[in-house]
Amino acid sequence: MKNCVACGMPMSKPEDFAMGDISKDYCVHCAHADGSMQSYPEKLESLTRFIVKTQGFDETAARLSAEHMMARLPAWQRRG
Ligand SMILES: [Zn+2]
Repeated sequence: MKNCVACGMPMSKPEDFAMGDISKDYCVHCAHADGSMQSYPEKLESLTRFIVKTQGFDETAARLSAEHMMARLPAWQRRG
């Protein structure tokens, strides 16, 4: 089993992978409709919204938390 390089989600079945392609290293939630991976700002934005919704953090706290989460993920190690 792989974990998504961009959000850390475990990918156990083909539907979890971008485009259902198990050779991809990122999940369906981190892919654009055309199958390409979302950029750092896009992912940060969606993760921030996700944390606000699921944990009730305010925008600033959620963004910080999202930045911390993403800092540990392989997709963003080489950023910048
Ligand atoms: Zn993902």
